[in-house]
Amino acid sequence: MKDTNILEKANLRALLETDQVDRVQDRLNIVDTFLGIEDHVTLEELFRLLKENGYDYEPSFVRQCMNRMVELGFAQRKQFEDQPIRYEHRHLGRHHDHLICTKCGKIVEFSNDELERLQVHIANSHGFHMLQHRMEIYGLCDECLAQRAPLMALVMAKPGERVQVKEITTGAGGRSRLASMGLRIGDNLEVISNDGRGRLILGHECSRLAMGRGIAQKILVSLSAAPGEDICGEK
Ligand SMILES: [Zn+2]
Ligand SMILES: [Zn+2]
Ligand SMILES: [Zn+2]
Repeated sequence: MKDTNILEKANLRALLETDQVDRVQDRLNIVDTFLGIEDHVTLEELFRLLKENGYDYEPSFVRQCMNRMVELGFAQRKQFEDQPIRYEHRHLGRHHDHLICTKCGKIVEFSNDELERLQVHIANSHGFHMLQHRMEIYGLCDECLAQRAPLMALVMAKPGERVQVKEITTGAGGRSRLASMGLRIGDNLEVISNDGRGRLILGHECSRLAMGRGIAQKILVSLSAAPGEDICGEK
């Protein structure tokens, strides 16, 4: 890894000198700090690291320097859903994709040849010549998943989650209301929408149910072990 960084720096110095830009050494210092991070950094995180390394550059200079790095192909800009812009290394000929935790923001890189081939194949089958793609998988990381209580109120489930009804803690009235909706213990649900305020929309046996938050508070569910399984019984 370190050897590549030295080569990258020499390559960059040559390009900066060709372009006759000013403050070449300052730029190389920024790049040095950036290349030392094997992570996806925001500009703010980069300023902080530069300060820790004893460099106090104006934010506008760092931003401009990173823009040039992107332009020259040494860095790439990434923006994941609900997150600020981040920069990561761009090593020629090496591609990777990302898993993003929607709870703690953790980003995990992966690469999978089979998936890459499949994407080209899918594009081709639609008459597309693939030039680039972004594969981002959003979900909960193992740590965030482990922090969750094994049973939670349905009202806490996030859109996209598949859960199984384990307990219904309402009185007889509530229970018969649920029974009239056709909802029983052991049923699988997919959370279609849950904005944290209004009612929930749930996928249940090939149809959609609207449920108030009060009653969703009284239904205890567990996350389904097999999230890929189809909620709709038709196979
Ligand atoms: Zn990919
Ligand atoms: Zn997480
Ligand atoms: Zn990455």
